[in-house]
Amino acid sequence: MIIDDRQYDVIVIGSGAAGATVASALVDCGLQVLLLERGGPMPLSDQNVADVDLFRKDRYHPSEQWFGTDGDPFSPQTIYAFGGNTKIWGGVLERMREREFGGLHLQEGSSPEWGLGYNDLEPWYAKAEALYRVHGERGSDPSAPPTRSDYCAAPKPVEPFLSELCQGLERQGLHPYPLPISWSDSPVDPSGDAELFALDSARQSKGLTLRGGATVVQLHVNPAGTEVRGVEAAIDGQRWMFSAHQVVLAAGAINSASILLRSATDRHPRGLGNGSDQVGRNLMKLQQTSILQLAAVPNSGRYGRSYGITDFLWGDQNVSFPLGAIQNGGGVLQDALFAESPPVLSLVAKLLPNFGLEQLASRSITWWASSPVLPQAHNRVSLREGRIQINYVPNNREAHDRLVYRWIDVLKAMEADPECQVVKAAPTHPRGEAPLSAIGFACGTCCMGDNPATSVVDLQGRSHELSNLTIADASVFPSCPMMGFGLTVIANAIRVGHHLRERLGR
Ligand SMILES: Cc1cc2nc3c(=O)[nH]c(=O)nc-3n(C[C@H](O)[C@H](O)[C@H](O)COP(=O)(O)OP(=O)(O)OC[C@H]3O[C@@H](n4cnc5c(N)ncnc54)[C@H](O)[C@@H]3O)c2cc1C
Repeated sequence: MIIDDRQYDVIVIGSGAAGATVASALVDCGLQVLLLERGGPMPLSDQNVADVDLFRKDRYHPSEQWFGTDGDPFSPQTIYAFGGNTKIWGGVLERMREREFGGLHLQEGSSPEWGLGYNDLEPWYAKAEALYRVHGERGSDPSAPPTRSDYCAAPKPVEPFLSELCQGLERQGLHPYPLPISWSDSPVDPSGDAELFALDSARQSKGLTLRGGATVVQLHVNPAGTEVRGVEAAIDGQRWMFSAHQVVLAAGAINSASILLRSATDRHPRGLGNGSDQVGRNLMKLQQTSILQLAAVPNSGRYGRSYGITDFLWGDQNVSFPLGAIQNGGGVLQDALFAESPPVLSLVAKLLPNFGLEQLASRSITWWASSPVLPQAHNRVSLREGRIQINYVPNNREAHDRLVYRWIDVLKAMEADPECQVVKAAPTHPRGEAPLSAIGFACGTCCMGDNPATSVVDLQGRSHELSNLTIADASVFPSCPMMGFGLTVIANAIRVGHHLRERLGR
């Protein structure tokens, strides 16, 4: 074991949306921060791939395998690199709606309150949007919560056929709006991510020590298990030990939980900070289904997400429970999530025999339907033979199906609209649910709350049991947001970083 004898102010584990953001906030106020990230720089050629190459089996899958619900090993789609999953995300950064914080009555039950209100997070949302240069248009989404600041820039322009599609949706009585998207306008790498908007500025500071290729294996604690004394990482085949006054876990909802479970000792057999037995439990994964529509005119297949539709967020005619949100998915050849849904492709192959991916992409328009799920204790991350085991059975499925079928009805109505020239009627609309391997939208495994018996961290992300451990990523979410929650991860990380700075007297 190699001991790094430097005592840092803070060690941050993981450099994704939460880790890079929190590290950047901490070095800004003069703290000495060690950022441990298991990946390294992702080559520009691998970022934001817009190509049939996206469908290569090993693309965006690390070499490790996890065990799934059926007990079989599977290969998760997750990015271990500077910036984490934000290196391949769609960059759509939405705020949670006010009502979500109070707990929602879903078809299958009620989701818990957050303990925080929308107003508590609003200032941090504003900072997060500014930091990640979110381009959007206030007032265009009828369901959006109130804000005190404008977006830094107008929505980025969309391909002309998408504007026509938008008008077709409006003729159906819907209210499409330009999706708020993190965007840098750089000609080489225009889409925003956590490396570009958080890590790069932190790197300019002498306060940041960044170690890539550093996989944190275990946290070491004092005998009473009340304080983290050391962070053990595997680097180039060697074991290293680092120490700091404070430790921030931001390795993502699956890995943060697994690090705590892996740190079990004889005195803490269920894992660290796990007196409540909640570490790893309540895993939630946004339910997502991609739906394909035939385009009447060829398109490039290489364009980003464009419009969102929230008309069915809270229900529909005769449906009084939330259904979820719809997004235009962007070009098939630019959507890493779509590439993860092989069932859609096999259906498409039947519909369009002899079509290659290029032709499929140029002839289709993708939509994503997303619905929330409830936290359930049996949906969990655990360890099996030292490897990650995911047990996950999605719930609230009927509401999601209703959303999908409702959306297909909308697509059919658009196809029957003589004024809408950009889509074409088809005998079927191929669709496929994002499989377990599409794990990028996971949350809830170390839930926050006031009660140490039912939660892992308090409302500032501090472990109830370890005085110097904070969790900053989506693990702490008490419920699953209705749509992509990257912005909530970032806003919460800035908030948690702010409280940590205060505790450290900065
Ligand atoms: C294809 C795809 C598209 C998406 N599109 C959107 C979108 O449009 N909008 C949206 O809001 N969200 C989107 N998401 C989800 C979004 O990326 C996540 O919500 C967000 O990145 C979560 O942030 P995080 O910090 O919790 O985890 P991550 O960003 O995944 O970061 C975790 C980091 O921890 C590192 N790490 C893990 N284990 C260890 C360890 N043991 N030691 C050291 N480091 C470790 C990882 O390498 C990684 O860098 C998308 C995700 C995917 C996969």
